Amino acid sequence: MAIFVISGPGGAGKGTIVERLCHDDALLWLSRSWTTRARRPTESPYAYRFVDRATFEANIDAGGFLEWVEFLGNYYGTPLPTAPEGNDVLFEIEVQGAQAVKTRFPESVLIFVEPPSRQHQEIRLRSRGDSQENIEKRLRKAEAEEEIGHQIADHIVVNDTLERAVAEVAGIVESYRKA
Ligand code: 5GP
Repeated sequence: MAIFVISGPGGAGKGTIVERLCHDDALLWLSRSWTTRARRPTESPYAYRFVDRATFEANIDAGGFLEWVEFLGNYYGTPLPTAPEGNDVLFEIEVQGAQAVKTRFPESVLIFVEPPSRQHQEIRLRSRGDSQENIEKRLRKAEAEEEIGHQIADHIVVNDTLERAVAEVAGIVESYRKA
């Protein structure tokens, strides 16, 4: 079982890439994170397990998370993975969590996805209906995220066009399976 971690700043398009990868590859098991963030109007109720802070904190205390972070005022956490036998695990998490997974599982493969420019990133962030304040916070955070990402990533993928980026990530996944 390989562990793939997709990370990158908000608005890099990693969610769309992950959706496409999982659709095309039945052996990739996507971990569903928990969050205390409110669901966006455009978002599926299954995008996360949406919980309140008390429920999240109870699960921290119970040792139920592989890693968790507080990101822009909300908790996000990866539950202990329960992938079926023969599947590879895929996490889509921010960079601090990626670092934690890498420390715990050094053999995990970290793929850092970046937008081609801040302008592209801003357009993507706006298109999903976040508040102006949140968009600005995420854009400000991106610089530091990219700096850490570049230090810890095994692969950096620029999401210039979706088709190309998906194909590149799929190729990376395949290369580890053959190894
Ligand atoms: P968003 O609010 O845009 O859905 O997520 C904010 C950031 O948190 C994104 O970079 C997303 O990948 C990350 N994230 C989602 N789930 C987790 C998780 O379980 N752990 C960590 N560390 N980050 C997560």
